[in-house]
This record gives sequence, structure tokens and C-alpha cells, in this order.
Amino acid sequence: MWPFSERYPECTPVEVGAPHEYDYIIIGGGTAGCVLANRLSAPVGTRVLLLERGPYRNGVNDRIPLLSANFLRAGAPKAVYPAPTPSALTSSKTALYEVATGKALGGTTKINSMLYTRGAVGEWNGWAERGCEGWGYEDVEPYFKKSERATGVLAERDWHGTEGFWSTRAFPNFAFPHLKKTVEACEALGLPFVEDANSRDHPAYMCAAMDMTRTPEGERSSAEAAFLPLSLVKERQDRLKIATRVVVTKIAFDQSAAGEDPKAIGVYFEADEEGKEGVTYFARAKKEVILSAGAIGSPQILQLSGIGPKSHLESHGIHVIKDLPGVGMNLQDHVGILTIYKIPIQDSLDKLLTSPLSAVPPLLEYMTFGTGIFLFPLTQLSIFARSSLLDDQSRTVLSDPSQADCTKSTNTPDIEIMPLPLTQTMEPLPKGWGGLTFLSCLSQPKSRGSVRLASSDPRVPPAVDLGYFSHPDDWAVARKALNLARTLAEGVRAVDSTYKMEPFRVLEPNASDDELKEFVSETARTCYHYSSTCRMAAQDDLEGRGVVDSRLRVHGVRGLRVADASVMPRVFATHTQAPTVCIAEKCADMVLQDSH
Ligand SMILES: Cc1cc2nc3c(=O)[nH]c(=O)nc-3n(C[C@H](O)[C@H](O)[C@H](O)COP(=O)(O)OP(=O)(O)OC[C@H]3O[C@@H](n4cnc5c(N)ncnc54)[C@H](O)[C@@H]3O)c2cc1C
Repeated sequence: MWPFSERYPECTPVEVGAPHEYDYIIIGGGTAGCVLANRLSAPVGTRVLLLERGPYRNGVNDRIPLLSANFLRAGAPKAVYPAPTPSALTSSKTALYEVATGKALGGTTKINSMLYTRGAVGEWNGWAERGCEGWGYEDVEPYFKKSERATGVLAERDWHGTEGFWSTRAFPNFAFPHLKKTVEACEALGLPFVEDANSRDHPAYMCAAMDMTRTPEGERSSAEAAFLPLSLVKERQDRLKIATRVVVTKIAFDQSAAGEDPKAIGVYFEADEEGKEGVTYFARAKKEVILSAGAIGSPQILQLSGIGPKSHLESHGIHVIKDLPGVGMNLQDHVGILTIYKIPIQDSLDKLLTSPLSAVPPLLEYMTFGTGIFLFPLTQLSIFARSSLLDDQSRTVLSDPSQADCTKSTNTPDIEIMPLPLTQTMEPLPKGWGGLTFLSCLSQPKSRGSVRLASSDPRVPPAVDLGYFSHPDDWAVARKALNLARTLAEGVRAVDSTYKMEPFRVLEPNASDDELKEFVSETARTCYHYSSTCRMAAQDDLEGRGVVDSRLRVHGVRGLRVADASVMPRVFATHTQAPTVCIAEKCADMVLQDSH
């Protein structure tokens, strides 16, 4: 907080609990929750309560892109859930399975890497084909545009919105020399360069410049800064209450209406501050409760409230409101696998980590001119490919031009490779070298994990199983992805043979299955795109049991919706914050429509 800046109106549990009543109670003031709080409190006379576990944060470290994206820094607003080594992998000291999410008003948009990707047109169309009525690309594009305030070159492109709340920008230019070389290497492999990964009609497989969520002034545009700025919250303070540092423990249901499904009527919560635990508060919802606690938090709260797999709930002594086996199943994430090259340290962010003094000139540049690497949250470019179209030299070979049509659901990429100018591993590089990591992600994994209660105590983190490689088909995709990463990196070296770049951790071309497994086990890590634990699908869907219908209403109960990354039928083959905001925008519209 700047000195002398006005206090943000955060409420305490006492101030918002009974006897106060609300039309809508939103659980979780994260990415989706902030959007919902904005939209649902727009009509004058509608009372909305937003309950968030973390605090309001607006310090310099929370706003500068590069600093705020370093969520490992001390004091970053995050929750970390330990996850065991997935059973298909062997344990290693260098893999990274800790599940991290944001814990603050704004949620994970306070700590994420700020990449703004909507997902390909065909991927959304795939939702509609799978039975999610009203979720094809034509249906959702208006919500993307509604939320967005694009500036700079993005504002000239008609698929971007310019009058919404959430600031998006393109990168002015590549911050590191190897990125331009990567573009050339991609083009040689049949992956054309695309200026905007969010365009409607780019080739399905590409190397694309990434848009990001930042303001024209060069600050992070997090969900609360965009959708719940101080001015808006003050203007609506009679009808929008925001309680921070509260942990929601349970949703309350009325089961008294004979022959009717149970109805959500309110929410129990406690203070989440040391010394203030133990007192439970209640707030009543006259119309609806909307759960937006994220892909880990939402299934935890549903299960604590008696909605989930019956036997699991009973094993924790929880009264069952609705036996809904899909709750907490189907956890998906992009597993990332590292291919690392050594490059001159001045071309890598490792320089800032090994010699913090070297950060002073670029920080001054950022503060003075608003330019330089402090604007840069890790990735500017990403590569999207499909394993089935890669030949044995990792070239993308199309047998039919329609295979490049990004509007077809069958053309969704299953590999994303991000060139990151840092080491991304616990292993130190030899002195004088920095890292260039090609982070290969399985963007359409078949594997699934789960989020289950570890305890009926709401303060005990749930048991998260990431489930990586629980489906054997993912191994073949991983091999193709790692071969492509190596070929790309070698292509970067070939573009400029004078550039100092050497392999550090690379899968050998003819690695055996055991060697592949060992390589993956040593270098696998989460990509933080947790989703699908409350998937939008029928309760008995064969691909994975559903939890909400196409209007995001929880099956078999009334007055309760889920709107966050957990409702994605599958993890998006891209980054998940923009689709989450779109889901929240559409949810708000549906809630308001249904209230009439
Ligand atoms: C390190 C990192 C980098 C990422 N980078 C990108 C990126 O560059 N681009 C991109 O598109 N995506 C990125 N993502 C993913 C993306 O940010 C998330 O998928 C998205 O923001 C999730 O939004 P959400 O609303 O589902 O959950 P969240 O934003 O996590 O919101 C959930 C909120 O609920 C609150 N909550 C949980 N339980 C309770 C409870 N019991 N009581 C009260 N409140 C509760 C939490 O504190 C949190 O604020 C990244 C994620 C991480 C962790």
C-alpha cells in the first residue's frame, strides 16, 4: 500500500454475519469471485457478500509484473498444498509437485504469470459438442470482450474488447535474443509465427506471441484491481460487502421442502487470523450461493458441506446432503517437463537470482520509463503442437490443410512448449551460465487426479493427488514433446552458431522407456492449471462424472452454482485465467437472468 493511500473497505466476519442477509453470497474472492462480485452487485438494490480467505494486497511487490510473478518470494499471497509424488513416477528431489494457488483478494491472479490466452476456437466448440449447451466459441466470445480492456495494438484487433475492466497488452518486443531465434527454429519445423495467440483464425499449430494482463502503466492487472477497484467498491458499499481473512467452513442447506431438492440458504465461516479462530459466523443467502474457491477449494467446500461421494463423506463423519461422486474427481493440470540449456547468464533471469545487485539498473528503468525486464512475467512466446502430426524429426506435417483449422475441436494442440529464460530447477548451473528452459507441457492429458478431504476440519488442507501419467497414453505424448523441445533448442543453436548455448538437461533422442520415465521423474513439475474437479457434465458422464450443469448449477441441489476453473470439462489446452474470467462473466449473466 502506498503511504497515505485510502483504506480498502475490507469487512470483518462480525460486520457481515447474521443478522445481515444477502441476495447472493460468493465464496472465494479470487479470479472468478471478483468478476462475480462486480457483476452481481451492479443492479442497485441487490445485496452481495464476497468472502475471501486471504487479505487485500496492493503493495509494490504485488503490482510489478516480474516481482509479483515470483510467488516463491517470502510473503507472497499464496496457499501451498503438498502433493505426493504421483504413483506413476519415481520420487526425486528436483521435481516440483507442490500445488500453489493465490490466497488474497484477486486469488491466483495476484501471483500468476499474467499470460492472457483464451483457448482456441475449436476447443470451446468441443465443449458445446460434448453437451455443454451455450459454451461454443460464438457463445463465449462476447464474455471475453465484455471483461477486457485491451490497449495498444490489441485494441486495434476486433476480437479484443476495449471497454471492460481487465487490462490486456501485447509485449512491445522480445526481451531476450533467444526468443527471436526460437521463432526462426519453429518456422523451420512447420510451426508458423502468429502475432496474437487469441486471434480467431490462426493456424492450429503455431509459435505465438502471448498477450498479458497488465495495465498501460505497466502494472499487473489482477482480478480485484480490475473488477473491484477502490472507487467501485466505495460507490457500492451499501450493497457490496467484502470480507477478507475469513475461511468458509460449510454451506447451509434447507432440506425441509418435501419432494424438493435441498436448497442452499447460507454460508458458515470463521476468521482466518491467528487467535481469532473458533467462532463460527453465518450469513443468509436469499437467492443463491456461488462457489468460486478454485479447483482445490471448491471441491473441498462442497465435500465439507455434504456434497460429494457418499462413502468418502461418511468416512469423515459428514452428513450427506447429496451423493455426487464427481466432486473432487477428474483433477487435471498440465504436467510440465524441463529441457534445459545453458546460455550466457546476461540473457537469463538467473542473473537476477544469483546477483541481486544486477536487478537495480532494470528496476530503475522500470520505475523511470516503465520499460525493461520488470514488465516481463517469464514467458513472451509459446509453441503449440499436436503429437500425432509430428514426424520423426519433430516437424509438423499436415496430410490435409483442414488439420490446421483452429475452429475444429479435433485440432486442439496436445503439446505446449514455453521457452523460459531461467533454470526452473533446484540444480545449480555451472558458474557464469544462465538457464534457458523449454518447459514442455502436456496440454490435453488423459491422466486425472483428485481432491479429497484429509479431514473434516476445514482448516486442514485437502489431500491432492495430481495423478500425472495415471493414463499410459500420456507417455507417448511426453516423448514427442521432449523430442520437439530438443529439436527446437538445437534449431535455436543452428540459427546462430556463434551464440553460446549448450545442453544441460536434455532427453537423448533414442531414450528407452525406462530412461524416459527417469527423465520425467527428475524434471516434472506442476504448471498450476488445476481444473475440472467440479466438471460441467452429466452426473454419469463416461469421460468423468459431472458436478454442474450447463448453467453451472450443482446437480441435485437448488440455489448453488460453481463458477471457477473447477467447472472446466477438461483442462484447457492453454493457460486458464482468461477462460476462468469468461466462465465467471457468463455465470453472472445466467444468475441475473434466472433471478427474474
Ligand atoms: C504460479 C501460477 C502461475 C500461473 N500463470 C498463469 C498465466 O500466466 N496465465 C493463465 O492464464 N493462468 C495462469 N495460472 C492459472 C490461473 O491463474 C488460474 O487457473 C486461475 O486464476 C484460477 O482462478 P479461480 O477463480 O478458479 O481460483 P483462484 O483465483 O485461486 O480463486 C480462489 C479463491 O478462493 C479462496 N478460497 C479458497 N478456499 C476458501 C475458503 N474455504 N474460504 C474462503 N475463501 C477461499 C482463495 O483464497 C482464492 O482467493 C497460474 C497459476 C499459478 C499458481
